[in-house]
Amino acid sequence: MGNLVLDGVDVVELGRELGTPLYITSRSRLEENIREYRKYFKNADIYYAVKANNNLAIMKIISSRGLGADVFSDGELYLALMGGFKREKILFNGNSKSTEDIVSGIEAGVRFSVDSIDELHAISEIAEEEVEMAFRINPDVSPETHPKIATGLKESKFGIPWEMAERAYEKALKTDHIVPAGIHCHIGSQILSPDPFIEALEKMFDLAIRVEKLGIELDFLDMGGGIGIQYSEEEKAPELKEFSERILDTYEDRLGDLKSEPNLILEPGRSIVGNTTFLLTKVNAVKRAFRNFVAVDAGFNLLMRPAMYGSYHRVVVANRVDETPSETYTIVGPICETGDVLAYDRMLPEVRRGDYVAILDTGAYGFSMSSQYNGRRRCAEVLVDNGRWWIIRERESYADLVGRQIIPPGI
Ligand SMILES: *Cc1c(COP(=O)(O)O)cnc(C)c1O
Repeated sequence: MGNLVLDGVDVVELGRELGTPLYITSRSRLEENIREYRKYFKNADIYYAVKANNNLAIMKIISSRGLGADVFSDGELYLALMGGFKREKILFNGNSKSTEDIVSGIEAGVRFSVDSIDELHAISEIAEEEVEMAFRINPDVSPETHPKIATGLKESKFGIPWEMAERAYEKALKTDHIVPAGIHCHIGSQILSPDPFIEALEKMFDLAIRVEKLGIELDFLDMGGGIGIQYSEEEKAPELKEFSERILDTYEDRLGDLKSEPNLILEPGRSIVGNTTFLLTKVNAVKRAFRNFVAVDAGFNLLMRPAMYGSYHRVVVANRVDETPSETYTIVGPICETGDVLAYDRMLPEVRRGDYVAILDTGAYGFSMSSQYNGRRRCAEVLVDNGRWWIIRERESYADLVGRQIIPPGI
């Protein structure tokens, strides 16, 4: 039979039984990704970036393997705690923390990554006891050599500018309730070479030396997330082993420059969950027009990445995996927007209404960026594991579309 299988489960059968669209996640692949991180970054702390995928079952698997969490809002903090992450291993990030965010972080007793002096003062005013923190530093890694890095450049909204970092730590030292304990940076996402990480890490150590001279003992250096995964056939799959060797070599080399022995923290999101998941969709119509359009039942309401970033995902006709590609098709969603395209010009076997199309590598920034636009209910999520499966999130109901809306009297 020419059906696509994930972790021992025929995904077409699953689609027939549960309906589509459907996010289907492989437990073994997730466990394998976690195992690799633990193996290659043995002495480092791995803080999973919750924003990539905040499904509770998935987070439970990750937290139960000893990983910590990187959260970006009070809501993500709540989800991370529900997902089993320990407060000692949670870092509260974010460039625009509300009073509510700060209060929830202090109440949970987590550490903060502070993005501005304004935030530093806000935390100091709200806190009644000591709060451990790092500044998020913008290391300004060179855009010429690394053009795709979006968050670690001078222009980015994130972090304390490199030149002002030392002054910021000086201030932190003198601020009530604030205990500077680390340095944090995050240079971007889907990075396929270790080079920019090495550049950022070198800069973090240069800063660490100066920060120590202020009398600060450093407990951690957190170099963020961003290690990429293979999305396309042409792309070379980044080897975690290579990243770890380069990063750990530099780390151990430079550790001798410091008096303290800070722990290394990494915050992977995409490289933990990205390749674990298929988005299974069903074909509603095939139309021969300017392009050969295949209209499926999921669009940017469920997978924002192609429309938002022009990102590439491999596409498979899930019930025809043994047929040879014969034509070029463009996969579009059901949303009332021209930009609702999941994949352009793919060679696929002949596609018909009722076929199933799987969009691969959708475990990161897939469901977590979904919306109800066009009155589309969010789909279900399923975990598959060695021939067995579990629904880990039910499809939304029509009542979920009405949500918490209130119609005032007299209308
Ligand atoms: C998004 C984010 C991450 C995770 O990035 P990936 O590319 O998914 O690994 C880690 N740290 C911070 C601060 C982030 O904003």
